[in-house]
Amino acid sequence: MKKRLLMFFAAIVAVITSTTCIAFSVLAEDNYDYVYTPNGTPVLVLINTEFTEAEIEYIQSQIDYFFPNVIEQAQITNIYNCHSFAWYEQNASNIYWMPNPSAYYMDYSYEESTGNVGDIICYFDSTGFNLHSGIVIARQSGTPNGVCGDANLVTVLSKWGGAGLYQHQGDYCPYVSTYGGSATYVKYYKLHIHTFVYTSYEDYHLGICSVCGAQQFSNHSYSYTIFDDYHIGNCICGKQVIANHNHSYTNYNTIYHTVTCICGENVLESHTLRTVKIDDYTHSTNCTKCSYSVIEAHDFRLSGLWYICRTCGARVSALDGPIPQPYGLEPVIS
Ligand SMILES: [Zn+2]
Ligand SMILES: [Zn+2]
Ligand SMILES: [Zn+2]
Ligand SMILES: [Zn+2]
Ligand SMILES: [Zn+2]
Repeated sequence: MKKRLLMFFAAIVAVITSTTCIAFSVLAEDNYDYVYTPNGTPVLVLINTEFTEAEIEYIQSQIDYFFPNVIEQAQITNIYNCHSFAWYEQNASNIYWMPNPSAYYMDYSYEESTGNVGDIICYFDSTGFNLHSGIVIARQSGTPNGVCGDANLVTVLSKWGGAGLYQHQGDYCPYVSTYGGSATYVKYYKLHIHTFVYTSYEDYHLGICSVCGAQQFSNHSYSYTIFDDYHIGNCICGKQVIANHNHSYTNYNTIYHTVTCICGENVLESHTLRTVKIDDYTHSTNCTKCSYSVIEAHDFRLSGLWYICRTCGARVSALDGPIPQPYGLEPVIS
């Protein structure tokens, strides 16, 4: 049993590694491509040809014999591998074989994590070479069994070289020593979100990521607390502004205008109206704050010898004859 196991691992390791080497040796223009990390580093990927039916049958028989407890999620194929599945596209229609995914964590697109569901797990050998990548789909509490870090405590979804896509216990795969592999430890990765430390300047701030050193200049962006007469704005960088509201007014309807400020204050307020005589027939009513304006006929009443406008106070002599025409002019709204 032990001998047969080792023979198998010679075979499966050949399947996992030889395709990469063969592909490298015949690297021609039409059988490689590049994909990019979130931070823009190009990563070489290979476009492989599929196994023959006989090769697939052989690999299937080996998996069936040595790893009966895996749950197959996609069938055997030489087209994509573990790294491509974990780092590039988590889909069985993936078309790339990725020899080396290290750019994803070397360029800080990803950072180390503790092995939560959704993290990428990587299996390293004692020289620091990344043998295998997968996705953590479950974690149990417990004690690491010493085989390969705490891999025994996670359930992993991973593509095994040129074999299939399997759901498996983290220490139940051909990469760990108990199954003939050379991985000695695992690391977990998650997408890196910058942790900026800010320096404030008059009109902008500079953020420097305390993890990866990325720098980002931005204008201040304030979130405001609104008080009756003023607002306080706070930027993520620590800069604070305290200022009176800077109101602007917009005509809303015949009764109200809206009062707005940069702080987000937005209220309806009655127009502040002032009416002035235009001529013997009309007056205009205007808001002193917004653009509201209406021209109306005077609203005359007879008082002794005068017609007096109830609204604007304009006086026209009653001795000059009847109320000046046009009487009853319809309001003109501008
Ligand atoms: Zn960063
Ligand atoms: Zn700022
Ligand atoms: Zn304000
Ligand atoms: Zn107004
Ligand atoms: Zn009037």
